[in-house]
Amino acid sequence: MVVLEAVLDLDDHPTADRVHEVVARRDSGVSRATVYRALESLARIGVITKACHPGKAVRYDSRTEIHHHLVCLRCDDVIDISDGRLDALPVPDTSRLGFEVSDFRVQLRGICRRCRELEETP
Ligand SMILES: [Zn+2]
Ligand SMILES: [Zn+2]
Repeated sequence: MVVLEAVLDLDDHPTADRVHEVVARRDSGVSRATVYRALESLARIGVITKACHPGKAVRYDSRTEIHHHLVCLRCDDVIDISDGRLDALPVPDTSRLGFEVSDFRVQLRGICRRCRELEETP
C-alpha cells in the first residue's frame, strides 16, 4: 500500500530506487527488497505498468491506460503523451515468433525542454 501510494505520488515514472527513497522517508522499516517485490506484484496484477527502457533501470508507471512516452536521451526523463493516432497503430502479427502482444507504448526519443534550455544557455 505504501509502495503504491509512492508510485502514484511520484507520477514521473520512478525507478524502484526512487520509490524506495520515498517509502523509506515515510516508513524507514521498509527494505529495498520489499519495495522491489511490491512493485513487481503491482505490475503483475496490472495496477501499475512497467515502462521498460533497455539498458536502464525499469521504470514504473501509475498510468495503466494506453499512452505513449517521450524519452529524453540526456536525462532519462519519461514524459507521458496521448495521441489517438498512435493508439490506433496496427499491431503486427507476431504469432509466428510465438510472441503474444498484450499492449504497446510508442517511445519517441529525443531531448527534453529542460535539457535543451541547459544546452542553449552558455
Ligand atoms: Zn532531458
Ligand atoms: Zn507513462
